[in-house]
Amino acid sequence: MASGFGKIVVGTYVEIKRSDGRIHQAMVTSLNEDNESVTVEWIENGDTKGKEIDLESIFALNPDVAPEEEIAPSPETPPPPTPTSVKVNKIAKNRRTIAPPKNDTPSRDNRAVPTRARPLQPQQPEPAPPPPSQQPSQPTQAQTQQQLQNARRKSNCVKEVEKLQEKRERRRLQQQELREKRAQEVDTTIPNYEIMYMIRDFRASLDYRPLTTADLIEEHRICVCVRKRPLNKKELAMKDLDVITIPSKDVVMVHEPKQKVDLTRYLENQTFRFDYAFDDSTTNEMVYRFTARPLVETIFERGMATCFAYGQTGSGKTHTMGGDFSGKNQDCSKGIYALAARDVFLMLKKPNYKKLDLQVYATFFEIYSGKVFDLLNRKAKLRVLEDGKQQVQVVGLQEKEVKCTEDVLKLIEVGNSCRTSGQTSANAHSSRSHAVFQIILRRKGKMHGKFSLIDLAGNERGADTSSADRQTRLEGAEINKSLLALKECIRALGRNKPHTPFRASKLTQVLRDSFIGENSRTCMIATISPGMTSCENTLNTLRYANRVKELTVDPNQVMEGGRPNIHAVNQLDLLDEEWLSISPQRDDLKLLCEQNEEEVSPQLFTFHEAVSQLVEMEEQVLEDHRAVFQESIRWLEDEKVLLEMTEEVDYDVESYATQLEQILDQKIDILTELRDKVKSFRSALQEEEQASKQINPKRPRAL
Ligand code: ADP
Ligand code: MG
Repeated sequence: MASGFGKIVVGTYVEIKRSDGRIHQAMVTSLNEDNESVTVEWIENGDTKGKEIDLESIFALNPDVAPEEEIAPSPETPPPPTPTSVKVNKIAKNRRTIAPPKNDTPSRDNRAVPTRARPLQPQQPEPAPPPPSQQPSQPTQAQTQQQLQNARRKSNCVKEVEKLQEKRERRRLQQQELREKRAQEVDTTIPNYEIMYMIRDFRASLDYRPLTTADLIEEHRICVCVRKRPLNKKELAMKDLDVITIPSKDVVMVHEPKQKVDLTRYLENQTFRFDYAFDDSTTNEMVYRFTARPLVETIFERGMATCFAYGQTGSGKTHTMGGDFSGKNQDCSKGIYALAARDVFLMLKKPNYKKLDLQVYATFFEIYSGKVFDLLNRKAKLRVLEDGKQQVQVVGLQEKEVKCTEDVLKLIEVGNSCRTSGQTSANAHSSRSHAVFQIILRRKGKMHGKFSLIDLAGNERGADTSSADRQTRLEGAEINKSLLALKECIRALGRNKPHTPFRASKLTQVLRDSFIGENSRTCMIATISPGMTSCENTLNTLRYANRVKELTVDPNQVMEGGRPNIHAVNQLDLLDEEWLSISPQRDDLKLLCEQNEEEVSPQLFTFHEAVSQLVEMEEQVLEDHRAVFQESIRWLEDEKVLLEMTEEVDYDVESYATQLEQILDQKIDILTELRDKVKSFRSALQEEEQASKQINPKRPRAL
C-alpha cells in the first residue's frame, strides 16, 4: 500500500534512532512494501551505512511524514499506480520537495537541479513543499496516464535513472556530511571562518597569471616590487588567515576584514600595482632575477646600484637578502647578497669587462640608532664625515678584497654572526638596525661602481617614537627619519631633483653617492607577511612602497603641495640656538618633514629636531671627553714630574708653584668646558623627553 508510506519517498530524510540511543538523520533509499519498512542510509566516519527500519518506528520519530487521514479518492484522482510508476511519481515528487524547479517537466536536465539547489546549511531539515500558489501546475489526468504508460514502457530506463538518482543522493549525503564536519571544525577552531570563506570565494573568481621565468625583465631606473612570504608555523598554529592574494605578475590584493555598524563582517579588497609582485611560492633566485640581477650590469657600467628590502619585522627581508634559514643556520648562498656576488664574478670574466682589470671589494656594516658599526671589524664604531665637496666618508670602514663567491659567503657569515652575537634572536637586533652589504668595483684603486644591498630595520619600529624608554625612542626616531629620507632620496632619483634631504639620516647620508648621478639605479623589495594579524603593517608597507614608485609613474606630478605650517616654534626655542642656525642636518630634516607633512606632525618634527640635536651633542660630548681623558694622562705625567721635583733638597719653589698653577688652570678650563657641554647635553636629554610626550598619539604610524 503506497499510501502506507505517508510522505516518505526515496530521498526523504528521516530521523532514526540507533541501538545506542543516538538519534540522527538518514536518507530513505528504498520503500519495502512486503514488510512495511524502509531502508535508510547514512554516512558514518566516511563509510556508508544502512539499516532497515519498520514504518511504525519511523513515524513515531517523524510524525511529519506519517500518512494523513485517508481521504476518499476524488473522481480526478488517478488510478492507483503500479509499483514502478509509484517510484516514477516519487522521484518527481521528491524533486519538487527538494527544490521546486520552475518548469517541472521530467527532463534529464532538471534532475540535476536538486543536488545543486540543496541548501548548504548542515542539519537543516528538508524545506517544506512550496505553498500551493507556488506549486507547478499539476499534470492533467491524461498527461498522468501518458506518463504512466511511458514509465511502464521504459521501466528499465526508469530503473537506471532511479539508480543514478540514488547515487546522486548518496553523494549528496556524503558531501553534506563532509560539509557538516568541516563546518563544525571551522566553527570551533577558526576564529574568522566567515572571512576565510569570503576570501576563498573571492579567490575562486580570479584568473591567476603569476610571474614566470618567461616574463620579460624590464629596465627600470627605480624598480619597486612586493614579495609575500608563506604563513609560518606560528601563524598556522594560531590559525591566522592568509589575507594577501597575488593574482598576477604585478598586482597585490589585500583582503582587509571590516565590520559594518550592524556587526556584519565584510571584506575590503584593496589592490596595489607594482613593477613585480612575487607570491609565496617564489624562490629567492626568482626574486633576484627580476630585482637585483639587472643592477649588476649597472656597476660594471660605472654606475651605482642600491637594492633595499623593506618591511615589517618577520616579513622576510633577511630571508630575501641574506638567504634561507634551514633550521637555525642561514644558507647565505641563496640570498640576494650572494647571488649578486656570484654574477659579479661571472660578469668579470666577460671579455668587455675583463680588459678593465677590475678588483672586487666588499664591506658590511650596520647602522643602528644613527651610528655606524663595522661588521667585518668586530663591530667597531665608525665615524661618518663629510668633506667640503659633500663627499661622505665612513672613516675606517674595512673594505675586504674578494676573489670569488666563496670569499663573499665567508664575509657574509662573519658579518652576520657579528651582527647578531649576544642577541636572544636574530630579529631582536636586526629589527632595529639597517644592515648594508656592499660590493665595490675598483680600477687601479679608483671607484668604478658600487652595489649596496640593504636589509632595512623593521618599519614598524618607526612608530616607537613615543615609547616610554629613551633608547627605544631614539632608535624609533632614527628609523622613522631614515625610512622617510630613503623614500625622498629614491623619489628624487626618479625626478633629478636639485636638493634632497640626504643628511636627515645616517642611512641616506652614507648612501648619498648611490643616489646621485645619471647612472644610478635602485630597487626596493617590499616584503609582506600574509597573515590577517599583520594586515595593518602590510597595508602601511604597501602604501610606502607605492609612494616610492608613484612619482616615477608620473614624473610631472607635484607632490609637495604648499609649504607646511610648522607650529612648534615655541618648543624650538628650547633648542640650542647655534645648532638651529648652522646645522645642515637640521635643514635637511626640515625639508624632509615638509615633504612628509602627512606622516610628520609638527610635534613629531620638534621631536626629531630634539633627537638630532641630542645625537650630535652626544657625539661632541664623547669626542671631548675622549680628548680630556687623553689630556688627563699627560697632566698626570706632568704632575708626577712636578712632585718628584719637590723631593729634591733645593728645588725651585717658585717654578713649582707657577707650573702647578698652569696645570690647574688648564685643567679647570678644559673640565669646565666639558662640564658645560655635559650640562647642555643633559638639558637636551630633557628636551627630547618633553618633545616625545608632545607627539600626537595618532602619529607617526608605522612607516
Ligand atoms: P625579517 O628579516 O623581515 O625580520 P626574516 O627574513 O627573518 O624576516 O623572516 C622571518 C621568518 O620567515 C624566517 O623564519 C624566515 O625563514 C621565514 N621566511 C621569510 N620569508 C620566507 C619565504 N619567502 N619563504 C619561506 N620562509 C620565509
Ligand atoms: Mg631580518
